[in-house]
Order: sequence, then C-alpha cells, then structure tokens
Amino acid sequence: MNTYDVIVIGGGPAGLMAAAAAGENGAKTAILDKGSKLGRKLAISGGGRCNVTNRVDNEELIRHIPGNGRFMYSPFSIFNNENIIAFFESLGIELKEEDNGRMFPVTDKAHDVVRALLHKLQQLKVDIYKKTEVTTIDFDEESGHRIHTTDAGIFSAPSVIIASGGTSVPHTGSTGDGYPWAEKAGHTITDLYPTEVPITLKDLLIKEKTLQGLSLRGVTLKVIDPKKNKLIKAHTGDLLFTHFGLSGPIGLRCSQYVVKARKKHGSVPVPLEIDLFPDENQEQLFQRLKKEIDAVPKKAVKNALSGFLPERLLPVSLERAEIDLFITGNELSIEKIRALAGVLKQFTLSADGTLPLEKAFVTGGGVSVKEVFPKRMESKKMPGLFFSGEVMDLHGYTGGYNITVAFSTGYTAGSAAAEHSLSSKTLQN
Ligand SMILES: Cc1cc2nc3c(=O)[nH]c(=O)nc-3n(C[C@H](O)[C@H](O)[C@H](O)COP(=O)(O)OP(=O)(O)OC[C@H]3O[C@@H](n4cnc5c(N)ncnc54)[C@H](O)[C@@H]3O)c2cc1C
Repeated sequence: MNTYDVIVIGGGPAGLMAAAAAGENGAKTAILDKGSKLGRKLAISGGGRCNVTNRVDNEELIRHIPGNGRFMYSPFSIFNNENIIAFFESLGIELKEEDNGRMFPVTDKAHDVVRALLHKLQQLKVDIYKKTEVTTIDFDEESGHRIHTTDAGIFSAPSVIIASGGTSVPHTGSTGDGYPWAEKAGHTITDLYPTEVPITLKDLLIKEKTLQGLSLRGVTLKVIDPKKNKLIKAHTGDLLFTHFGLSGPIGLRCSQYVVKARKKHGSVPVPLEIDLFPDENQEQLFQRLKKEIDAVPKKAVKNALSGFLPERLLPVSLERAEIDLFITGNELSIEKIRALAGVLKQFTLSADGTLPLEKAFVTGGGVSVKEVFPKRMESKKMPGLFFSGEVMDLHGYTGGYNITVAFSTGYTAGSAAAEHSLSSKTLQN
C-alpha cells in the first residue's frame, strides 16, 4: 500500500495546481494520472498557446462563468487570476495580455506552462504516477481512503482530491471517470451537456455552403426561446460560419443556451438571430443604407452596397429582403430599403443542435456544487474528499475562464486537503 497525506487523481490544470498547493503546505503528496503525459488538455488549450487566465476583476470573472459562477467567490478570495499570474511569473513563465484580457505565455507555447508546473511538483517532491488509472475509491474517513489503480496497486490517504475533469475531448484522458466515485460518496451528478461547442444549423445556406468560412466581427448573436419567442441570451463579438453551422467565440458562448432550449422544449429547432450592426438601431441603419444607395442612384444596389457588408453576405441579405440583385438605386422603393435594414438587424437562422459532448471544449454539469464547501472544496458528504476543476458543475466561457476555475479550485482544494491531513496527523500524535 502506498500511503500519502494527499492523493490527487488527475493531472490536468486542476490536479497539477492542487498537488502544488498540497506540497507547498507540507503534505506528502502524490498525483495519479492514467495518461503517459500530464496536462494533455492544458497543452492543447487556447490553440496550443494555453490561455492561462484572464485579467479582469473578480465580478467580471464570475460573469464569464454562467450557471454556478457565484460559487467561485470563495475560491477566488483564496486564489484568483492575479494569484495565477503571480504564480506563473514566480516559476519564470512570463505572461502577456491579449484582446479581452486573455493571458498567454510570451513564448506562445502551452508546453512551457505544463513543464513549469511539473518542475514545481518535482521541487516540492510530489510523487508523480503516470499511466496509473484509478478504477475505484473505497471511502474510509477513519483509517484513510483507499484508491485502487490498474497498475500501481492501492494508495491510501486521509485526503483525496478528485480532479479527473469532464467528458469532452476524451483522447486527453477526460472520460468522466470521477462521477461514479463522487456518487459512491453520496454526491449528486447534475445532467451532463456540451458547452462551448459549435452550433449546427439546418438552414439551406449551410447545406449549400454559401457562407462557409465567413468570419464576422463585432456582431451580436441572439438565442430565441422557440416556444415563447423571447430572447434567451445574446453575445456580441466574433462569429464564424463553418460547413455545419456556427463557431467562433460568440457561437461557442451561445451554444449552451441552444442545448438547454432543446432540452426544455424537446429537440425543436431553436431560432437564432444575428444583428450585423449592433451599434446602431434599425432607423439609423436604414438612413445609412439609403444615403449609400442615393449617392449612386444609377448603380445596381448590389454594387452600391459593396463594402457595406462582407461580399458573400450581401446577395443572401438582398435575397432575404426580396430585392433583385440588379435593380438600381433609383428603382428601389423606400420599403425595400427598410426591409433590408430589418434583415441586417435580424438575420435569422435555425439551430438544430450542437456537435456532441466529445467535441465540446467544456462539459456542462457534474458534481453538484451545493454539496461542496466553497472555501475548501471539501465534500459536504465525505470528510477528506475534495474536488477541483471541470469534474464539478462549473463551466466558463472560453477565454481562459475554465482554466482559471481549474487553477483556483485546485489551489483551494490542495491547501485545504493538506491542512485536513496534517491536522488529523497532529491529533493522532
Ligand atoms: C481544445 C480545447 C481548447 C480549450 N481552450 C480553452 C481556453 O482557451 N480557455 C479555457 O478557459 N478553457 C479551455 N479549454 C477547457 C480547459 O482546457 C478545461 O476546462 C480544463 O483543462 C479542465 O481542467 P481539469 O484539470 O479539471 O481537467 P482535465 O484537464 O480534463 O484533466 C483531467 C485529468 O484527469 C485524468 N484522469 C481522468 N480519469 C482518470 C483516472 N481514472 N485515473 C487517473 N487519471 C484520470 C486525465 O488523464 C486528465 O489528465 C479547452 C479545452 C479543449 C479541449
């Protein structure tokens, strides 16, 4: 039997940070991972550059963690984005800030971040067990929890941290193994669903690949309730048309609302709207269109408006406003210009779902945060059991928010687990 003060299951950002915090707090610590490399998902995050965190204030961080974001107030009071930045800089990883507060290593190499974390664990003498798959945990708060593995036998510790991640992108090792262990300890697993995932569309323009590869900047994407016809959620930013639907930052951000609407209303198509000019109202847009068309009354409208819209979007929009592509400005009625303004403010699409959970950047749902003490990440059901990262029902938007959650909950869990084990040792002596 391998005996430790703290055992961390999972070597993603949550587990690596948890092991570092436990080691720093004087606990004899081991980290077990089933992969031959640690931090595999971290190494592919942020396009292989690793979006370590985001430099915004705590309120803004929480706003970017929809659902259970408020749970993060406590872990952020212990270890937040500024602490993450200071932590990596202390390891010699210089960071740079990019658009929307996103922080990356100056080298643009995620592997540097992973290497720095592993070096830190070596310095702290944390034992690293790779290719060590945990099969089950026998909980025993009196004589130590026992962790069964495929190749390295049984481990025992008064504190166990489950940091096994979600179920998305399973080739990185995150295959949902932690949920049954949590259930065994009495925890509820909330429904799992894909978040931060491309949206699939059923519109003809997708089938015909009319807009495939088109990237729109600074537009607003709205998700509309299919039954009540009311706005569910809107996000402004960059959007990408793919061969099956929508992606890009705001496509990903809106995806979870499509998933939830379909779950609520039974797999019906979910209406989407793109506001192509969110900074002006429909009347202002109409006036601008009219001015543009009136300036060259003898030109075909499609030429008069070239430059107003991305080239491939213009004919589609004119068609939707029932405007002949070759009609000239002086032949076009005011009503048609108003109709075009309407199309550009409400470019409608119809979502028939998203790509599956395995293809999602993040797993929504997981260990219910209602059953976890937020200041310690310790289970309310089982003393000495801790959670960190995506295995919990916590998910952020892409932009470094998930990794921030993983590091923050990892640090909080690691510190509390060390304290739990070392204080029980003191009591025994
Ligand atoms: C392509 C991609 C890009 C992303 N980009 C961003 C981004 O830009 N910004 C952002 O905030 N988030 C991003 N994310 C999400 C982010 O990477 C994850 O939220 C984060 O890695 C979760 O960390 P974690 O430590 O909780 O779990 P994971 O990183 O999933 O790590 C879990 C670990 O547990 C191990 N494990 C699982 N089961 C067992 C077992 N039975 N025994 C032993 N070990 C086990 C796995 O091998 C794995 O190493 C991205 C995700 C992907 C897939």
